[in-house]
Amino acid sequence: MMGRDIWDILPLFEKKPPKPKIKLVCPWCGSSAIYFKDAQVFCRRNGQYRLTIALKCEGCAYTAFFGVHITENEYYKLKEIWGTDRIDYTVVGHVCINLLEG
Ligand SMILES: [Zn+2]
Repeated sequence: MMGRDIWDILPLFEKKPPKPKIKLVCPWCGSSAIYFKDAQVFCRRNGQYRLTIALKCEGCAYTAFFGVHITENEYYKLKEIWGTDRIDYTVVGHVCINLLEG
């Protein structure tokens, strides 16, 4: 599924930030101090489900989004675990996603 080759989204099911499978570097300033901002699930009008992962560069404030494909089951499960369709850094912690373990 699109985006899953770069993102391990399983930590989100434990209210932890998603883990990138590659090192992410800011395309504008070159910093690797990329922080998790928030994640949001939604259903597209065509019945497909998506997870938007938002990131922010601490070097230059550039904000980036990944539109990761998820299943209908994952969509409902994440909403149930989060208690809403969105989770942010105030819940999962202010963490540099390049420094996550594992
Ligand atoms: Zn930057």
